[in-house]
Amino acid sequence: MVEEILKVLVDYTERVKLLDEKGIERIVDIVVSHMGLQNYIKGVEFPYEIKQKKRGVSIADYDTTTNKMNVYIEAFDLYSESQSKYDVLFSGFELVLFQNVLMLKFVLHELGHAFDFKRVDSGESGTIEMELLKVSANIKKIIAQTILGKYDENSDFDLILKYAVMQSENYSQFYYSDPMERVAETRAHQTVTEMLKLIKDRLFNLDEFVKASLLQYQLKPYIHRTGITPCPSEIYLSSVGQREVWKSMNFYDEDASKLLKKVQKECSLDERLKLGLPLTKEEYSELRLRYQRSNKARTRNR
Ligand SMILES: [Zn+2]
Repeated sequence: MVEEILKVLVDYTERVKLLDEKGIERIVDIVVSHMGLQNYIKGVEFPYEIKQKKRGVSIADYDTTTNKMNVYIEAFDLYSESQSKYDVLFSGFELVLFQNVLMLKFVLHELGHAFDFKRVDSGESGTIEMELLKVSANIKKIIAQTILGKYDENSDFDLILKYAVMQSENYSQFYYSDPMERVAETRAHQTVTEMLKLIKDRLFNLDEFVKASLLQYQLKPYIHRTGITPCPSEIYLSSVGQREVWKSMNFYDEDASKLLKKVQKECSLDERLKLGLPLTKEEYSELRLRYQRSNKARTRNR
């Protein structure tokens, strides 16, 4: 799959072109057929509007009620301007590829949501990741239906209320701690990294840049919390009134340091970063350092 996506990206980049509707459709088709998303992606639309959100403009979204994906190309142009501070890191082919990779990440992120809804619907279970995704998918569906006024009597209004409050009060924290967002964002970055490996000899900074930007995203909600609990997933579950799900995790322990040891045994560091699970203080500081170093290296290169 990554080879095919790369072909589209290189094709556009070599012609010094940014991904347009046709290019994005090609990428969506590739992912849909490889991941079996035919029932979950019923089409991609390109509305000419700028949707303002608290966190910034919306570049792409996925509607769980219609299974349609939207990509806002004009909004992307605005976003891309805001990222131009990084242009100094790249030149020539890599500079154009950088812009195309930014767009690709948004597209892959939304397709990743479709994939995770499919996994939840198919009843995949038995892992911490699926337990977290189940909660998140359910809440996202309820919210989407509520926005459309399509909720039924079974909808948990208490949940909706808590979620809505959380969204309005601290949207950015919610965005970084929602397991479904973390899983989609991590997967999108990993796909890009895998793809860039195939053209490593043509790159100077971009592969390093993508790795650093994932680490930056993953660490964000841990920042003021010195690493240990509460971790992003715990914050998320508590905020949406699902603390019992947290307590039902097989690593759960009332004693924070015991919990930490158990979760370390159960999940690798990468897994914990992806799912927003606890890190030790040492792990957190080391990751912060690694991020800062790669940041410095990036600027030194130019
Ligand atoms: Zn998302």
